[in-house]
Amino acid sequence: MDGPAGRTTAPAPPQRCRDRAERRALIERALALGVPDDYGRARGLRLQREPARLVSIGSDIRGREQWLQPRAALALGRMKEAALRDGVELQVVSAFRSIEYQLGILERKLAHGQTMDEVLRISAAPGYSEHHTGRCVDLTTPDCTALEEEFERSPAFAWLERNAAGFGFTLSYPRENRHGIVYEPWHWCWHARMSRR
Ligand SMILES: [Zn+2]
Repeated sequence: MDGPAGRTTAPAPPQRCRDRAERRALIERALALGVPDDYGRARGLRLQREPARLVSIGSDIRGREQWLQPRAALALGRMKEAALRDGVELQVVSAFRSIEYQLGILERKLAHGQTMDEVLRISAAPGYSEHHTGRCVDLTTPDCTALEEEFERSPAFAWLERNAAGFGFTLSYPRENRHGIVYEPWHWCWHARMSRR
């Protein structure tokens, strides 16, 4: 659709839950599918809230538009620029994901025959993914297979280890993390309390 100036109208950000009741209903559906009642407590994972505002951070490596909450988007932009100045290209694989989207992932994986245990090793249960917050990104770099452990051997990962904290980003799921989630060298989360800029 074209806007008044003939420019393409910016696409709307992804839908989020309108209120707590809507969020609760999605989490109830996940429980009905077999997510354990004590999942959050047992894994040390918190229920996450979707952000009121999302801004576009451009396209991911597959050409899909991605979104983050405004301050995280700004921090990511600055971090990508700084990396580029050091000759490192950081590419986005995935950013904001809604609770409803996460429920869809769970439903699909179960429908394809995975057990709940298998699914929950790789994917957080709906409501508990850090991606719901709009503060997390999965990153990759050219010549690296996205979302594979080999990312940890890339110069991009070495750069992130040295510099990401300065932009407010930390690695959420290091090796042997207490949440029982596989090691994810690609998953970086922005924290307001850490951000110095
Ligand atoms: Zn992630």
